Amino acid sequence: MSRPRKVAIIGAGPAGVLAALRLQQFNHISPVIYEIRAEPTTLGGAIGIPSNGLRLLHRLGLWDALRARGAETSTLSVHALKGQVIGEMDMTSWSREKTGFGYLRIRRVDLMEVLHEAARKATIPIHFGKHLTGITEDNQGIAVTFADGTSDNADFLLGCDGIHSMVRKLYVDPGLTPEYSGISNIYSLVPTDQLPSAAASISSLNATLTTDGLLAVSPCRPNGEMVYWFFSRELAMPTSGDTRDGWEERGKEQVETIKSTVLDLIKTSEGEWGQIMKETIRKTETLRFYPVYRLPPNGQWSRGRCLIIGDAAHAMQPHASQGVSMALEDIFMFSNLLEAHPGPLDEVFRIYEQKRRPRVNEMYLLAERNGGIRKKTTPWRLRFNELATSGALGIYNFFGMGKLGLGQKPLAYDVEEDKN
Ligand SMILES: Cc1cc2nc3c(=O)[nH]c(=O)nc-3n(C[C@H](O)[C@H](O)[C@H](O)COP(=O)(O)OP(=O)(O)OC[C@H]3O[C@@H](n4cnc5c(N)ncnc54)[C@H](O)[C@@H]3O)c2cc1C
Repeated sequence: MSRPRKVAIIGAGPAGVLAALRLQQFNHISPVIYEIRAEPTTLGGAIGIPSNGLRLLHRLGLWDALRARGAETSTLSVHALKGQVIGEMDMTSWSREKTGFGYLRIRRVDLMEVLHEAARKATIPIHFGKHLTGITEDNQGIAVTFADGTSDNADFLLGCDGIHSMVRKLYVDPGLTPEYSGISNIYSLVPTDQLPSAAASISSLNATLTTDGLLAVSPCRPNGEMVYWFFSRELAMPTSGDTRDGWEERGKEQVETIKSTVLDLIKTSEGEWGQIMKETIRKTETLRFYPVYRLPPNGQWSRGRCLIIGDAAHAMQPHASQGVSMALEDIFMFSNLLEAHPGPLDEVFRIYEQKRRPRVNEMYLLAERNGGIRKKTTPWRLRFNELATSGALGIYNFFGMGKLGLGQKPLAYDVEEDKN
């Protein structure tokens, strides 16, 4: 087959826009993006992007713009329920040395604005309000059709349309359905000018374990002007089952009660941190509830001239902060393989899947394991966990285990060096 010259991309989220930028810059392929929403989304909390993802964003020329809008927060500060810090660690001490990048927390809306601005500068067309209805292919190419009667043809198709991917449902792996992880998140963004003055100088990710979930507070804008907080807890499926109505009802009830629930859980917190946490919750105006879904691992990723990447292929729990970075790694690996293997596309897809799966599965399991600390526990068990965490972080720092890369190797992984 001759070199592909045009790609149609479904979905203008991180995976779709980043894939378009990379394929245009590196492979000289013309991308066209189709997005179901009527306009770029303004929804979302704040995303954590660790070293492995940041180095790829830098290679795409996006690092300076992102850094100017986010907060670099490499330190994890763990607090006891009483408020005091029981341990701290630099989550990227070693991976920063290896990659040159630490950890960025950035509002999703800022991330997407930077990406869409880059696409605009690169004159990549993004068509909004496009509901995909069909995919067909032949020896010449692949065709997509939309509910408004329009259609397009390309040499290949990238499905970047997230966990509920229509590309996957219509074409690549119709039998694979997302499953509820048992964990739900509720989150908000709060300007620090409404909080005690010390809130503007928070520079780390602050985590507090409670008997009913994890509360985290982190800066997400430059100069400490805003904090992002989330509460992540074990929550049963609605009694009516896994239905949209059931979750809407459950979400409404969570949003209505969560402030008093969290304030009650942290009522014994004292000192400056206790005050910041409580005020952050009290001053919260808008909350968003999010049941965490994931895709069962090892689904199919390609068919014919179509490949799905990012959450469409391997949505994982967000507890390892790797969703965007996994999409970036997908894109770089695929784009490099396209250059290295000028043969048929299905052969490139086959090699891609074979090389990419072990890394994706590793991060999937890590995210699942990290989800475990959100589970309900007793006050005694919580106290035990606090002591164990304090001890473990003390040992980690005393023996300089961060310098050995313990726990940080996945963050220093360079997908472009992966020769397995
Ligand atoms: C609560 C929560 C917290 C998270 N925290 C982090 C974090 O800290 N760090 C991190 O890296 N990741 C995090 N993630 C995961 C991260 O959001 C995803 O991994 C990432 O957004 C995946 O990007 P994507 O482009 O593959 O999919 P998406 O972001 O879902 O984008 C898909 C795009 O496709 C569009 N679309 C959907 N269907 C169609 C269709 N039929 N036709 C056309 N367009 C369509 C959507 O509107 C959207 O624009 C979190 C996720 C959640 C839920």
